[in-house]
Amino acid sequence: MYWQKEMEVIGRRALEDLQLKKLKQTVSKACKHIPFYKEAFSKLNLKPKDITALKDIRKLPFTTREDLRLHYPFGMLAVGKDEVVRLHTSSGTTGKPKAIFFSKKDVDRAAELIARCLIMTGVKKDDVLQNMMTYGLFTGALVMHYGAEKVGVLVIPAGPGNTKRQISLMQDFHTTTLHITPSYALYLASVMTKEGLDPQKDFSLRRAYMGSEPYSEETRKKIEQFFHIDVYNSYGLSEMNGPGVAFECTEKNGMHLWEDNFIMEIIDPDTGEKVPDGKKGELVLTTLCREAMPIIRYRTRDITMIMPGRCRCGRTHRRISRIFGRTDDMFIVKGVNIFPQQIERVLMGIKAVAQNYQIVLESYDHMTVRVEISKELFDGKVDHLVNLQTEITGKLRGEILVKPKVELLEPGTLPVSEGKLTRVIDKRTL
Ligand SMILES: [Zn+2]
Repeated sequence: MYWQKEMEVIGRRALEDLQLKKLKQTVSKACKHIPFYKEAFSKLNLKPKDITALKDIRKLPFTTREDLRLHYPFGMLAVGKDEVVRLHTSSGTTGKPKAIFFSKKDVDRAAELIARCLIMTGVKKDDVLQNMMTYGLFTGALVMHYGAEKVGVLVIPAGPGNTKRQISLMQDFHTTTLHITPSYALYLASVMTKEGLDPQKDFSLRRAYMGSEPYSEETRKKIEQFFHIDVYNSYGLSEMNGPGVAFECTEKNGMHLWEDNFIMEIIDPDTGEKVPDGKKGELVLTTLCREAMPIIRYRTRDITMIMPGRCRCGRTHRRISRIFGRTDDMFIVKGVNIFPQQIERVLMGIKAVAQNYQIVLESYDHMTVRVEISKELFDGKVDHLVNLQTEITGKLRGEILVKPKVELLEPGTLPVSEGKLTRVIDKRTL
């Protein structure tokens, strides 16, 4: 099923022609209306007319998060303030936020992309979507909300948290579809277990969309098995509309990135050079349809790769793999680069491990992984625990090449999350 079939299965040649046409328009517009781009282009002695082929995108300057922050609040706006209908901001841990503006058409286009994503995963008008992302300045919930309304499904704007109420809403209104972070889904599972609820018998769930935190295939399987649903990966970031930039189809093998709206590149984050398809690197995105705020070559800091080959679903927009991590999340122990997702992948692949864990960076040479183990296995038999600890330590060492200290904990020991969760505790002093 398609929402905009003609565009979703468009031939590659026609798609690339369209991208080039829109890229030229975007570049001209940005140079004309945004002083930041005007300056960046003149520094490189570059004119919009120098863009004659798609590969010329590599001549263009990058835009970073810092650039957006420096030009907060209105510096990156390409239209008059009277044409803007919505503001979102995206805040980091430090410094000023980034302001993201939408024109009326931008809001509508973002909703269209979500509609494509929902139909692609089999949603129909009689579905009920419980939106457990944060409403407000963050794009996660609102953009999904508008897209789901466009399709015609019933949207429950639940927001995150208040888990008991979430459960009653799910039961009372026969929720079929969840929009949720992976860490909250795991928490929801633990509450259902505690309440003695059977996700299959007591609910009408069919699928969930998960994004906003990188998570592993093993976690997806764990969540799918617990709830008896299909989990689809969703990718987006506020700077690029929010959710709906890339989304999985029913093949569940990589996320189609809507290339009529964005040009994607994968680069080596250190050199800025293009990396070949199938190799990991940082995702760089250029908006092609944005009216209020066109952004050129945005450094997302998300690590992924372009998946070579065509998808069996027939859509021609290329796929990116799940997000392996963010360049910011990476930490170094004993000189080895480690992403928290590598640790998660190992832990979630071990049956005795429950939903919760924590990584503590004690020093530059030493880390501790604190793991909650499942209730059934916490039988107090010391040899069982020792064997499990040895198994986890060995598997982690095989994956991250550093031997961590592993602590096994009783279920319920670690802090839980009703939203985004901090899994890495950094105790090192700089
Ligand atoms: Zn597909």
